[in-house]
Amino acid sequence: MDISVVIPLYNEEESLQELTAWIEKVMDDNGYSYEIVFVDDGSTDRSWEIITRLREKSDKIKGIKFRRNYGKSPALHCAFRVVKGNVVITLDADLQDSPDEIPALYDMITKEKYDLVSGWKKKRYDPISKTLPTKLFNATARKVSGVKLHDFNSGIKAYRKDVVKNIEIYNDMHRYIPYLAKIAGFNRIGEKVVHHRPRKHGQSKYMGISRFFNGYLDLLTLWFLSRFGKKPMHFFGLLGSIMFLLGFLAIIWIGASKMYAMMNGLYYRLVTDSPYFYIALTTMILGTQLFLAGFIGELISRNSTERNNYKIEEELL
Ligand code: UDP
Ligand code: MG
Repeated sequence: MDISVVIPLYNEEESLQELTAWIEKVMDDNGYSYEIVFVDDGSTDRSWEIITRLREKSDKIKGIKFRRNYGKSPALHCAFRVVKGNVVITLDADLQDSPDEIPALYDMITKEKYDLVSGWKKKRYDPISKTLPTKLFNATARKVSGVKLHDFNSGIKAYRKDVVKNIEIYNDMHRYIPYLAKIAGFNRIGEKVVHHRPRKHGQSKYMGISRFFNGYLDLLTLWFLSRFGKKPMHFFGLLGSIMFLLGFLAIIWIGASKMYAMMNGLYYRLVTDSPYFYIALTTMILGTQLFLAGFIGELISRNSTERNNYKIEEELL
């Protein structure tokens, strides 16, 4: 199979028919063998009903329905487990991304040998409340990840099959898939300018300030996990050692200067009267705690379990 189109959706009943017809047209015009995998992320409108009907007409349409709304990342993760195409293309369900981009993306993966190609909405039709935070995100993500993309979080992306089978997206990590791919060892990451359109029906599912904080926290987590996920002791152990050592040296110094004063008949205070004693003590305790955190981190990373545990209600595969 040439292409798997993956579409995560949450309450997008108005768009599904038009989107499917459009994709089918592009596929047939170019003669691709394909499947379209819809993941209904717990929609409460008629989305699933429509997918079921589309499926009756064509068994190239696959569907997975989550029991409740888990988010775009689990939806993508779930679809990536079942896709069969050599190239996997993700699209948003809201018709903001154009299926006409598919052939060019497909060629970039198959002919130019990219592992991942991310759509770049150079001219974007979204409110400023979305585009401005996104600019900040992208700038930070570029710095932290070292992946030079203008637009990390566009819904339209193309992947070599290996990529989607080897990355695990959870929480809200879909924002940083190119970074995840890089961490997994896929280095040929490209970008293609894509046409973007205003949302026709419904409203954006990602609004408000929480998007901002969650986005940054996730980036921090990713950075931490990619650096120290498999060796937490290197992070906590180093910090812990430095703190413990500082505290220890300070205590020696405090003790020694008291001894010196005693022996020379100078004025001296009790060690416990000096504020430095307490600072040194706290530093040593914190150092020990960090060390222990490192050991616990090592234990956990040896036993890490599945992070995605969504419940599926129905499958049409
Ligand atoms: N989506 C989803 N689960 C969610 C939120 C969104 O599957 O919890 C889907 C949504 O239906 C759409 C895509 O993710 O197909 C992108 O969402 P949206 O268009 O609302 O985001 P925006 O384009 O405004 O960033
Ligand atoms: Mg959208």
